[in-house]
Amino acid sequence: MTKGRHHHSRAWAPLPAALPDWTIDDHTHVVSVVSYAQEQSRQADDRQMPVVPVYSADELLDFAGFVGIRQIVDVGCTLPELQPAVDLALAHPGRVFAGLAIHPTEAVLHGHHGAPGPDGLSVVYEPWHDMPFDEALDHVARLARSNPGVVVTIGETGLDYFRTGEPARGLQRQAFRDHIDLAKQLGLPVQIHDRQADEDVVRILLADGAPEAGAVFHSYAADADTARIAREHGWYLSFSGTVTFPSNERLRQALRVIDLDHVLVETDAPYLTPAPWRGRTNAPQMVPYTLRAMADVLDMPVEELARRTRANAQRLYRLPPLPEQSGPPAAAR
Ligand SMILES: [Zn+2]
Repeated sequence: MTKGRHHHSRAWAPLPAALPDWTIDDHTHVVSVVSYAQEQSRQADDRQMPVVPVYSADELLDFAGFVGIRQIVDVGCTLPELQPAVDLALAHPGRVFAGLAIHPTEAVLHGHHGAPGPDGLSVVYEPWHDMPFDEALDHVARLARSNPGVVVTIGETGLDYFRTGEPARGLQRQAFRDHIDLAKQLGLPVQIHDRQADEDVVRILLADGAPEAGAVFHSYAADADTARIAREHGWYLSFSGTVTFPSNERLRQALRVIDLDHVLVETDAPYLTPAPWRGRTNAPQMVPYTLRAMADVLDMPVEELARRTRANAQRLYRLPPLPEQSGPPAAAR
């Protein structure tokens, strides 16, 4: 571990200025943000750095609301995270919606079929990986079926060729197809995780057909050419903090390619914190940093981009109108 890493601040980034109009965090993991922040707080303690507060999911949702992020899609994509994602959505009707899936890197671990990928990390099995993949996917299906309007997407599914080696990739592709099939049965869109697998993701989407309800490339990481294919087929691109990183010019090119009816914004928190706050804990409240950077790239008012991304998410996930959050009650007007 380098000295710089050891001493980097664990503090929360300051809240961004509120957006002039509200929008939706298309993909986040609020339940994980809380445990991630607990770890940051513990590390700050150990190193006698300033105290780092740990906020509850409810507090994080309030912060998000203050800055104009009034609805979120909270994703549970490991077996133990499925129910907590649904529970968070049930506790915040109209504000939190759930996405469920068995993540591509998890899918191959179920039944112990993992293979180390180019990232060089070793394969580690957790107790829940004793369960075969099909059975794990049944849990996704059951929870989605029993919570209509609460579970609004199947995701994140897809392919991760950075984390997963060749011997396991066939199984990963099959798991992706199974998720697409499930989404079709449920009439839900899919959220796709594509890491160094652009060609195969596109090939499978075209071969099987994307769900009629829609397909989203979450935390878009491919280039402008893939964005052109997405545009041609009406797929959505959801941009995370990575679009703000100076080295990611190709993401900004992709953003210029996709049409405004198919662009979304997300945090993928607790990771992928937007510039200039890389290394800090990410949370839905950080969306305005990313959205403002995107508005600059598109040379359009952030207010309009907030409205466009919101309308796109509302249409895609068929979200109900938001309950009134501010202003006097109707009777008093
Ligand atoms: Zn994610």
